[in-house]
Formats: sequence, structure tokens, C-alpha cells
Amino acid sequence: MSIVERHGLALVISAPSGAGKSTLIRRLVQEFPEFAFSLSTTTRSPRSGERDGREYRFVGREEFEQLIAEGHFAEWAQVHGNYYGTPLQATQDLLQAGQDVLFDIDVQGARQLRRSLTGSVLVFILPPSREELQRRLGRRGTDDQEQIARRLAAAEGELAAAPEFDYWVVNDQLSAAYDRLRSIYLAEGCRMSRNSHILAGITAGWTGGQKA
Ligand code: ADP
Ligand code: 5GP
Repeated sequence: MSIVERHGLALVISAPSGAGKSTLIRRLVQEFPEFAFSLSTTTRSPRSGERDGREYRFVGREEFEQLIAEGHFAEWAQVHGNYYGTPLQATQDLLQAGQDVLFDIDVQGARQLRRSLTGSVLVFILPPSREELQRRLGRRGTDDQEQIARRLAAAEGELAAAPEFDYWVVNDQLSAAYDRLRSIYLAEGCRMSRNSHILAGITAGWTGGQKA
């Protein structure tokens, strides 16, 4: 009997900038270090503390456009004036090897991945309010006033895409929001359609002759 290998779970997480997505993702990867993080390519400049090959692969616009033309990306989008993309081959290799992969991408990318990666799970992180979103963007201290205004304006359009997602997590209290996110991951890992290899393993060698 051949035992079907487990295919990895693609957990796609999107949110308006400042909602707390990176904070929640950091916790998830800390608790489940076996998670592979999908390393995106971007034309955005590195922020202080970011390193090429760790947070992103940082490239110029010309190189990015060349990569698009070569069919390098599973999805790509322009977000806040910069290109971002997910490499196709690296993603497929990880999932086929049974690795669960986490995607931190915008709503346009999530929409594309839903089509290209069967069985992907889409989670949308919601801020509790516009005011709180603005406060968090300011407190984070990584963007100037103009960038914050741009991110807030973009948030409205991103929230309109929320109904396309499988799950919503409102990031009000951080620990409660994190519990919801980890529950989604754990429950999705138990989905019957992902686990035929378990039953195949249990029933392998069963004689079938013994009845209760
Ligand atoms: P994103 O990745 O969605 O852009 P971040 O994770 O960088 O957002 O969070 C934006 C800011 O809000 C950070 O300063 C972070 O520490 C803070 N933050 C995240 N979650 C919460 C929360 N539940 N309550 C208060 N502040 C939060
Ligand atoms: P930041 O510049 O703050 O790191 O990211 C800005 C936005 O780009 C975030 O919403 C992030 O999720 C999104 N993003 C990061 N990588 C990708 C990617 O590979 N594809 C898409 N479509 N969006 C991405």
C-alpha cells in the first residue's frame, strides 16, 4: 500500500498595515518553529535592522520586472508604491516537501494565491478601529506622517477585501488575538482532507479479518 505524503499547509495572512500582523506572525513562528516563512522579494528599501535574505530579498525595480517576465513569481503586486512578490518554485518545493508555509502578503497577493495554491487558508487580521490603527502606525515609528496617511488610505480598500478571506481575527487584545490565530492553524492542520496519510498509516497491515 502506498502511503500518501502530507502536503504542507499554506497559511496566508493579510491585514491593513499597522493592524499587528507582523507581531502575531512573530509569535506564531516562535511557538511553531517548524513553520517555513515565505521569503518575498521587494523593491522597497530595507528598514533599519532588516537584512537581505532574512526579512526580504531586496532588489531594484528593473530586476523585479525581469523576474516577472521570467515567470519567477506565484503572485506579485504593487503595495504602497513598491513591488512585492512570492517566488513560485521555492514555495512549491516547500509545500511538496510537507512543510507548512506562512505567507505575509497583501490582499491582492492573497487573492492570487487562493487561485494558485489549492487548499490555502486565508486569514485576515482586523484592527479594532481606524483610530487604533492610526495610533499603532504612529507608535511603531517606522513611517513618516506622509507614509502613515498613505497606509491609512490604503486600509479602507484592504478592509473591503475582508469578505474574500476564510477567517477573521480582530487584533484587540494581543494575547486573545494570538489564541484565535493559533487555533485556526491547529484546526486547519486537523482537516480530514490534509490527513489521509494518517489513516493510510494506521490501516496499513490491518488484516481486515477480525470483527468486533
Ligand atoms: P503590521 O505588521 O500589521 O503592519 P505591526 O505588527 O508592526 O503591524 O504592529 C504595529 C504596531 O502596533 C507595533 O508597534 C505593535 O507593537 C503594535 N501592536 C500590535 N498588536 C497590538 C495590540 N493588540 N495592541 C496594541 N498594540 C499592538
Ligand atoms: P512592508 O513594507 O510593511 O514590509 O509590507 C507592506 C505590505 O506588503 C504588507 O501588507 C505585506 O504583507 C505585503 N507583502 C509583503 N510581501 C509580499 C509579497 O510577496 N506579495 C504581496 N502581494 N504582498 C507582500
